[in-house]
Amino acid sequence: MSQPSSRRQFLQQVGGGIAVSLAALSANNKHAKPGYNTGGKKLGVALVGLGSYAKNQLAVALEKTSNCYLAAIVTGTPSKADEWSKKYNLDKKNIYNYQNFDSIADNKNVDIVYVVLPNSMHKEFVLRAAKAGKHVMCEKPMATSVQDAIDMVSACRAAGVQLGIGYRMHFEPFTKEIIRMCRQKEIGDVKFIQTNFGFTIGDPTQWRLKKDMAGGGPLMDVGIYCVQAARYVTGEEPVSVTAQYGPVTEPSVFKDVEQSVSWQLEFPGGATVNGFSSYRSNIEQLYVSATKGWLQLSPAYSYGPIKGSSSKGPLQLPVVHHQTVMLEGICDALLTSGTMPAHCNGEEGLRDMKILMAIYEAAASGKKLPLV
Ligand code: NAD
Repeated sequence: MSQPSSRRQFLQQVGGGIAVSLAALSANNKHAKPGYNTGGKKLGVALVGLGSYAKNQLAVALEKTSNCYLAAIVTGTPSKADEWSKKYNLDKKNIYNYQNFDSIADNKNVDIVYVVLPNSMHKEFVLRAAKAGKHVMCEKPMATSVQDAIDMVSACRAAGVQLGIGYRMHFEPFTKEIIRMCRQKEIGDVKFIQTNFGFTIGDPTQWRLKKDMAGGGPLMDVGIYCVQAARYVTGEEPVSVTAQYGPVTEPSVFKDVEQSVSWQLEFPGGATVNGFSSYRSNIEQLYVSATKGWLQLSPAYSYGPIKGSSSKGPLQLPVVHHQTVMLEGICDALLTSGTMPAHCNGEEGLRDMKILMAIYEAAASGKKLPLV
């Protein structure tokens, strides 16, 4: 199923992605898993699900990355297998379907399986990839329930493989800079955050509008960026949540998932956060108010260009291709330490899942709920 054109237009990709400079990879890395291609070689990535994000972003990134490459594909659509094998010069032995996927265990070229399927399918393919002994990247939101996320983290731990979530913002320069500024208290203590992410969804029949496949509406799809941002700006975990669903003005479209939702999080250091997510408002902003100043990113979460300023002046940073720097970042970590970066691992995804589900619970109950 293809992505709605409105979302494609909204999440525009900036031209000419960049390659980050990576620390030289050690050929004698004692942490690297046996069989890893260290010494300047590249990790092989298998993309599972060749929809819009895999095709327009991840495959593009894998052509630019210096430490990983597209080694295999997994698809249920034979015409896509043909198209991709020609475009990326993939041998037949590196092309799988959903049925024979498990035999990827025998493919020495594949180090990482990257699951880019509708949300409800993430768990099955993460578990199967872990069983095949491969490290796993999984798109956000990692699952459609907290229990599924717990099962995914446990399965990867039991299999001795790393689990990462496609949290690309952690590798993006503007985002990294505001995290640094907040950690170093350059604008004082954070007191209030306003963060919004929404877009006008297209095709009313798509999986994003079906609760059993998406797990929820805009909150699961893009509101998750706002929840993440509240956590990486404060560097803390929220202690309570209240939330409210917005009005449903198009009941024929929003019969299964919310049209919009607002939420409020309280953090132990005294910051409060107002979040908003919608499938009917084109909005994207992160505003941080602190005791000695403020900062703002807008656009804050789409593919860019991210733009930012603060009470100290405009933020002038490189514009990057998010998926390229993310893939290079995680592969650098895997090659040098053998682990996923903590800010985008499975446990991090699980923390967000708990907050997303608590937002839904708070909106449904109208109550202020504690978060533990
Ligand atoms: P998409 O609809 O474009 O692609 C989904 C893929 O899954 C297609 O190849 C489709 O054929 C396949 N599929 C297999 N079984 C299916 C089924 N039963 N129903 C529908 N599709 C099925 O979706 P997408 O936009 O590529 O999103 C895929 C994942 O990537 C989602 O989890 C989404 O949240 C995530 N995503 C992340 C970002 C990001 O910036 N990190 C951006 C877009 C999407």
